[in-house]
Amino acid sequence: MKIYVPLDSAAVALGADKVAAAITDEAARRGVTVEVVRNGSRGMVWLEPLVEVVSAEGRLGFGPMAVADVAGLFGDLASHPKAVGLVEELPWMKGQTRLTFARVGVIDPLSLDDYRAHGGLVGLERAVKMAAPEIVAEVTESGLRGRGGAGFPTGIKWKTVSEAVADQKYIVCNADEGDSATFADRMLMEGDPFTLIEGMAIAGLATGATKGYVYIRSEYPVAIRVMEAAVRIAREAGVLGPRFDMEIRVGAGAYVCGEETSLLNSLEGKRGVVRAKPPLPALQGFLGRPTVVNNVISLASVPVIMARGAAYYKDFGLGRSRGTIPLQIAGNVRFGGLYEVAFGLTLGQIVNEIGGGTASGRPVKAVQVGGPLGAWFPVSLFDTPFGYEEFGAKDGLIGHAGLTVADDTIDMLQMARFAMEFCAIESCGKCTPCRIGSIRGVETLDRLARGDTSAIPLITDLCNTMKLGSLCALGGFTPYPVMSALTHFPDDFVRAKEAAE
Ligand code: SF4
Repeated sequence: MKIYVPLDSAAVALGADKVAAAITDEAARRGVTVEVVRNGSRGMVWLEPLVEVVSAEGRLGFGPMAVADVAGLFGDLASHPKAVGLVEELPWMKGQTRLTFARVGVIDPLSLDDYRAHGGLVGLERAVKMAAPEIVAEVTESGLRGRGGAGFPTGIKWKTVSEAVADQKYIVCNADEGDSATFADRMLMEGDPFTLIEGMAIAGLATGATKGYVYIRSEYPVAIRVMEAAVRIAREAGVLGPRFDMEIRVGAGAYVCGEETSLLNSLEGKRGVVRAKPPLPALQGFLGRPTVVNNVISLASVPVIMARGAAYYKDFGLGRSRGTIPLQIAGNVRFGGLYEVAFGLTLGQIVNEIGGGTASGRPVKAVQVGGPLGAWFPVSLFDTPFGYEEFGAKDGLIGHAGLTVADDTIDMLQMARFAMEFCAIESCGKCTPCRIGSIRGVETLDRLARGDTSAIPLITDLCNTMKLGSLCALGGFTPYPVMSALTHFPDDFVRAKEAAE
């Protein structure tokens, strides 16, 4: 009997470790031989812990499992109260286009054999036979853009590093996933770490970099443990070695270290403050050497591009947003989790059809897209297709593709204040519009909350200053949630005045 129980942090938070232990104990008590495999999550968080039992028909799912449900796994499975049927046949799974996350939840994350058996290392084996410019051209042709939020074409960044002349170059993976409602990086590292390792090794071949680092936030202990083990296994198997080797580095909790130059400072052992650009990290990055800094999902998307070809990947998507995007649906939503799909679904389809609307059952009021610095979208903009340019045209951004759903009880003035306060707390202090502006922003929004609507032009002016004058995205993007709240939900600001009076 083979049973999968996720090791994924969300599943563990919901009791997966206890369920796994209970399965082992129950099997021993009954004298049944059971192989318990700790897999990644399928992304259906409302079913976690989702236990899968291998049967002749496929993997049967049971969730959300509690210790009390474990004994039933050794009886008639069809009548188990937590049975959800064949996992691959569930609508959530069937509706997706899983390219980057194809193996997450399917394989044993730390079995290189399992990884190979599910198509792993095919991309790297192809890349080894190619010249560096050919690999760069393939990635460029795929249309892959930085999935961390900036959306910069990955191939162009690689080309810059590839053509730079230096005695040493680096690949740095940004796994400092600090945005609210984002968990794709964590799920990928916990559920399929070899995909990231393979993507980084391909990036090394493409650019001439022989050394890589994954900078993981300290709040991700499972991802750190899995990645460190996977690197050891890959090294012992010869996947990593003199041609390209890598290390895991752990951050110390600063949100701004998700910004690439701040991350590089932190990686060098310095305080995590933003560096002015130029010079670009692609030319003078880690230790002053040419460095590719890519997000986890960008690098993890490369193996499938190299294995199946740029044209295959590029065939998915919309406009200049090619390929697939792992949507992370969270907040007040019925079906939260990770859903990988080609760009182009409308926001309304994502929230209502995939997410099932709010968990509270109340009407959706707004959705914040792109983390704490993303704009709030009202229902009237639910026809916006999910794509970089499409969201930009509506004064928003897709960022790391995290969505926070809110019902009609949310107070948008308080959300605007939260954004400013977040910026004030997390600001690295290097530039004035962000360091001082965010504090003045909190004060100005508090004036609004007290009913002083004469502060509206002031907050608008302040947001413009921060947007245009900040050195990095933290100060530059904080105006998005503030101004979108003010623009789309002006009544919330007026109501605050009435309440105050
Ligand atoms: Fe630092 Fe904020 Fe300026 Fe970015 S915008 S460099 S976080 S002070």
